[in-house]
Amino acid sequence: MAVQIPAVLEAPLPSDQTTAGDSVDICIVGAGVIGLALARELVRAFPSRQIVVLEQHSYVGMETSSHNSEVIHAGIYYPPGSLKARCCVRGKELLYDYCNSLSIPYKRTGKLIVANRTEQSALEAILQRAHANGVNSLQFIEKDQIAVMEPNVHADIALWSPETGIIDSHDYMQHLLREAQSGGVVLACRTKLQHSKVDNQHCGFELKLQSGAEELTLRTRVLINCAGLHAVSVAGAIDGLDPAFIPHIQFIKGSYMRLSGKSPFTHLIYPVPDPAYRGLGIHATLDLGGQCRFGPDIEAVDCLDLSLDPARIPLFEKEIRRYYPELDAQRLHTDYAGIRPRLVTSNGEPADFLIQNADKHLISGLWQLFGIESPGLTASLAVAELVASEIRGSAIF
Ligand SMILES: Cc1cc2nc3c(=O)[nH]c(=O)nc-3n(C[C@H](O)[C@H](O)[C@H](O)COP(=O)(O)OP(=O)(O)OC[C@H]3O[C@@H](n4cnc5c(N)ncnc54)[C@H](O)[C@@H]3O)c2cc1C
Repeated sequence: MAVQIPAVLEAPLPSDQTTAGDSVDICIVGAGVIGLALARELVRAFPSRQIVVLEQHSYVGMETSSHNSEVIHAGIYYPPGSLKARCCVRGKELLYDYCNSLSIPYKRTGKLIVANRTEQSALEAILQRAHANGVNSLQFIEKDQIAVMEPNVHADIALWSPETGIIDSHDYMQHLLREAQSGGVVLACRTKLQHSKVDNQHCGFELKLQSGAEELTLRTRVLINCAGLHAVSVAGAIDGLDPAFIPHIQFIKGSYMRLSGKSPFTHLIYPVPDPAYRGLGIHATLDLGGQCRFGPDIEAVDCLDLSLDPARIPLFEKEIRRYYPELDAQRLHTDYAGIRPRLVTSNGEPADFLIQNADKHLISGLWQLFGIESPGLTASLAVAELVASEIRGSAIF
């Protein structure tokens, strides 16, 4: 008999309703933006299926999905043909349409990638890559136009990206959750997946959950691991999965510094990325209230510690002064940090998103998403669309 779990927000799975015999059709591990986008997409694709989302915290989106820049990226930087590029470009369109259809607040602020003359060739390379990704809206602008658009920015030349925007990630996730729940998806908060076992007898998985103070068992036909920073440990706790399919993930922390008072900018301002830096450079973003913040920087860490170190402020000052020499450092304050779950190539470059299905690991019904760092927020609806179409194509249901 199918499990009956009440769709109560912030509730763990109740033990009296989840016994060893209970089962669902689809279990999504992780209620970040990817898990929620997937829940919404899958309930539309398979309306008669029972779908449960497990979340270890007391509410959705408390990890990376609420510790990022909240930028809707245009899809400029990623290698052509990569999942990052394809899902960003498609996801951006889906996200703007989604926001318009549900009146979710966002702002198409646009962004300037600013440079001095010696960096012009780097801007040209970015423009070419954007074209290869199907982003054709970028334009070069000269110093006099920059001065009109952003009088506080010091630059000789810039690339203007009109499609870049900002969104409130909490508001977006709330809408995804509401839609998923109204389709019948059950969210079980304070419920952590501890261990899974491939269950050949029932063609699926047997899951051991810690739900509040209880230990529970749940069966599922499809298991989707979108546990973000924990995806590798969730994969490591699947009995029957060959460890050769579990990638190595680096934790790359990014800290943000808030600029108190009125923002000196009205658009997002990015420097030319420094290849040695392996990030987009310390840029200026705005939130929907107009608050300016700088970051994220890049710091390899070995634990999930989000504390902020004021000693990083001088590094920020140096980077920000490249395009905003008038910076008053007294106005910079530590704000928050996020951690990227980064896959890397053999030469240490950031690698692509990795979506693993049975074609790879030969376990029917298992999907695993690794390395969903930036632009995962922008790409979320496209990633969900892709996984849903793979599940449809697998003929599991
Ligand atoms: C510094 C920084 C800046 C970024 N800026 C941007 C940006 O501007 N634009 C953009 O598009 N993207 C950006 N990103 C990327 C974006 O934030 C992520 O790609 C996205 O949030 C990933 O979502 P997720 O659902 O995969 O992961 P998460 O949000 O981490 O969600 C995973 C969830 O799984 C839960 N979980 C884990 N293990 C278990 C378990 N065993 N049982 C139950 N639950 C579990 C966790 O509690 C968590 O809630 C940025 C990321 C960082 C770090």
